[in-house]
Amino acid sequence: MQQNNSEVGSLEACLELDARDSLAHFRCHFELPEDTIYLDGNSLGALPKATSQRLSEVVQLEWGRDLISSWNKHGWWDAQKRLGDKVGRIIGAELGTVLVADSTSVNLFKVVAAALDLHPGKIIVSEQANFPTDLYMLEGLIRHMGRGHQLRLVNSPEDILAAIDSDVAVAVLTHVSYRTGRMLDMAAITAHAHARGALVVWDLAHSAGAVQLDLSGADVDFAVGCGYKFLNGGPGAPGFLYVAERLQDKVQQPLSGWFGHARPFAFEPSFEAAPGIQRFQCGTPPILSLTALEVGLDLILQAPQEAVRDKSVALGCLFKRLMEQECFEWGFRLASPPDASQRGSQICFAHPEGYAIMQVALIEKGVVGDFRSPDILRFGFAPLYVCYVDVWEAVQKLKLVMQERLWDQPRHRQRAAVT
Ligand SMILES: *Cc1c(COP(=O)(O)O)cnc(C)c1O
Repeated sequence: MQQNNSEVGSLEACLELDARDSLAHFRCHFELPEDTIYLDGNSLGALPKATSQRLSEVVQLEWGRDLISSWNKHGWWDAQKRLGDKVGRIIGAELGTVLVADSTSVNLFKVVAAALDLHPGKIIVSEQANFPTDLYMLEGLIRHMGRGHQLRLVNSPEDILAAIDSDVAVAVLTHVSYRTGRMLDMAAITAHAHARGALVVWDLAHSAGAVQLDLSGADVDFAVGCGYKFLNGGPGAPGFLYVAERLQDKVQQPLSGWFGHARPFAFEPSFEAAPGIQRFQCGTPPILSLTALEVGLDLILQAPQEAVRDKSVALGCLFKRLMEQECFEWGFRLASPPDASQRGSQICFAHPEGYAIMQVALIEKGVVGDFRSPDILRFGFAPLYVCYVDVWEAVQKLKLVMQERLWDQPRHRQRAAVT
């Protein structure tokens, strides 16, 4: 078949998609280096332009000038709940059900411990391929606080439903897989678990800000997620946690620090949990990090979540089609589900030389994706700042790397500490 310029996947077609993109104007709200195509917003979201200014305001005026009075005067005191409600609007959760706090790992510990208290069952279901911190935190929880609890790890997403039987207390599942981008059916799995009396904790690290979520519609029990991925809160930004309103006053969490006390400033010698979601706070929150995260949240809240999801799907499909067309002859294999409705906002390809290829694309050609052992090249699409032409250029650069065997050099095989 004759190729022509207006064909789907041509540069012209991509330019046209960008011209018609209702989210295109968001890109100018981010600092992005000129010579970089950033396809790693699923690991560390880009820096919103407003963040530096806002941080310096908070440092100079709130911390520097108003000092301790800022806890009341500038909303430091209820920042975790205020930001939680903003996250709630992004993930389809009701007011008062989300808290921004701690890291995703710590939040997972808190909510799983709370869930286990609600249920006499001893089995915790998760996936072998879950993000390791989730499994490590479960191991630690069982080791130190378990009452005969055991992990039941499934090898494939197809086995999840069967593994959640009436012995199960809680299933701890990541909604969008960090390795493959595969997205689970949150509503169906939650309903299946509830029908067997089990609870579910959802990890939304790769979901929040990228795919449409409806936690309250799916009757979710507990969830956790990250602030520094698609929410653009900056490196090490606080994470979030969600607890359904129907459960909040029935649960306690083990990290019962003074910020979760009903009357922290009464300085009472014994703990009494605050009502509602605030009992999931622990200690004094990092105000500067919360400040940066709030800028990211305010930005994403201006974008309709439906448009964000539509664009993310379109970018992923374009990337997949272009990879098949331009690069598959060099032995790439799609490692994500072929059906876009089963993918989050990333797409992955396996290649035996994955690490070297990504390093070349990464360092020398200005395409930033990442590599996940043993052979996965991972490309994330943050719909607020990735455009269609980025996708086109990224694939062209990858094609060049393959055509000229630019990856085939010893220096690209040495692994850096952070991949
Ligand atoms: C990124 C990620 C985390 C990160 O946890 P931190 O505590 O922020 O380091 C946890 N779970 C999943 C599924 C992730 O993708």
